[in-house]
Amino acid sequence: MLSSSLLQLEPPTPAYICPYEQACSYLEEAAKELKLDQGILEVLSHPRKVVTVSIPVKRDNSEVQVLAGHRVQHCDILGPYKGGIRYHPAVTLREVSALAMLMTWKCALLGIPYGGAKGGIALDPKRYSVGELERITRRYTSELIKDIGPAVDIPAPDMGTSAREMAWMMDTYSVNVGHAVPGIVTGKPISIGGSRGREMATGRGVMLIVREALADTAQSLVGARIAIQGFGNVGSAAALLLHQAGAKVIAVSTGSGGIFCEDGLDIPVLKAYAAQNRKSVVGFLQATPISNADLLTLPCDVLIPAALENQITEDNVNQVQAKIIAEAANGPVTLLANQILEAKGITVLPDILANAGGVVVSYLEWVQGLSYVFWDEERVNKELEYLMVQAYRQVIQQSKIHQISLRLAAYTLGVGRVAQALSDRGLYP
Ligand code: GLU
Repeated sequence: MLSSSLLQLEPPTPAYICPYEQACSYLEEAAKELKLDQGILEVLSHPRKVVTVSIPVKRDNSEVQVLAGHRVQHCDILGPYKGGIRYHPAVTLREVSALAMLMTWKCALLGIPYGGAKGGIALDPKRYSVGELERITRRYTSELIKDIGPAVDIPAPDMGTSAREMAWMMDTYSVNVGHAVPGIVTGKPISIGGSRGREMATGRGVMLIVREALADTAQSLVGARIAIQGFGNVGSAAALLLHQAGAKVIAVSTGSGGIFCEDGLDIPVLKAYAAQNRKSVVGFLQATPISNADLLTLPCDVLIPAALENQITEDNVNQVQAKIIAEAANGPVTLLANQILEAKGITVLPDILANAGGVVVSYLEWVQGLSYVFWDEERVNKELEYLMVQAYRQVIQQSKIHQISLRLAAYTLGVGRVAQALSDRGLYP
C-alpha cells in the first residue's frame, strides 16, 4: 500500500475508486501468481520518490494563481524513470502514483530499459491561454530541475500535453543547465531531436495489438466493427490507422458527446471536422448522435476506451457487447468490472500492453538522440511493430501456459522482470 503519509494528503471521498489501490491490487495478484518474496512486494508497492510542487502563475489578467504539480518516480531498477506529464482537472497525487507504477510494468513488459514515473498538474488546459500554459510548464519544469535529467527521469506527453509542452520543458531545462539537452524529454518536435512516428505511436501500437488479437480469433481487421471512446491524440490516431487498414470505425466520442454510423465513419474527414470544432465530433454529418455511455455498450467486435480511467465499471459492464476490449487509456476498466469481463470470456487487452506504443517510440527517440543518428518513419514503425508484436506473443504464451487472464499475464511478465532485477541488484546498503 501507498505510504500512509502520502494517502493522508488526499483523504478518499465515499464511493471513490482509488486508482492507487487498484494498481496495488493488480500488483498483489501478480505477486501471488509469481510467489514473490514479501520484501520485494513491499519495495514495489511504494513509489521511490514523490514530489509535489507549487506552481504560481500570473494569469493574462494579472491575477496570480497557485497550482499543484506532481512527479512520482515509482521504480528505477531497470533504467531511468520514464513517463508522461498529464494536464487534466481530475489529476490527483493518487492517480499520478498509480500511473507511475503502471509505467514501471509497461516498460519492463516491452523490454525497454526504463523505470516508471508520471507527472501531472490539476488544470483544464482549455481554460488557459497558450502564454499561460507556457508559463505553467516552464515553472513546473524549473521546480523539478533537480529531479529530472536525461539519465535520471525523462518526461513525455500524456493527456492534455503534446510536443509543444515538451519543447518548453526541453528549453527550460537546457537554459537552466547552460546547454541544449534534447534527451531530457521525448515526444518533442522533430526540429529539436524528436522522432518521426512518435505522434501516432500510441495509436499505432493499439492498432497492431488489435490486429494481432483479431488474427488470433481468425478475424481480419478488414470489416471489423470498432467503437472508440476518446478522439484525442491516441483515439484519433488509432481510428485513422484502423480505418486505413480496412476496419469500420462505427462510433467515436469525446467529452462533449459522440457519433455513430453503421457503415463506418470517414475518419480522415472526421479528423478535419474535429480540428475545426474545438476537438469535438458532435454535429458531424452522415452520423447519428450517441452519448459517451451508449458508445461503451454498442454491439461491436472491438471497443477501444481511449479516454479517462474507470469508464467500464460494475454499473455498465453487464451491458458491454464488444468481443474484445483494447485499453488504449490507462485503467479504463475497474478492478471489479475486469473480473466480470474475465468471467464472461470477453478478451481485455490490458493497458500496459495495448497503449505501450507511445513509450516504445519514446525509447526509440532516446536511442536515436544518444547515437546522433536519426531514422526515417518506416524504420521507426518497423521497430515499434517488432517490439509490440513480440510483447503481445509473450503475453498470449504466458496466459496459455499459466491459464491466467491477459492482464495477469502482462503483469506477471512486467512485475517478474522488475523483481528479478531487484533481487539480482540487491538492497543497498
Ligand atoms: N504518456 C505515455 C504513456 O502513458 C507515454 C510515456 C512516455 O513516452 O514516456 O505511456
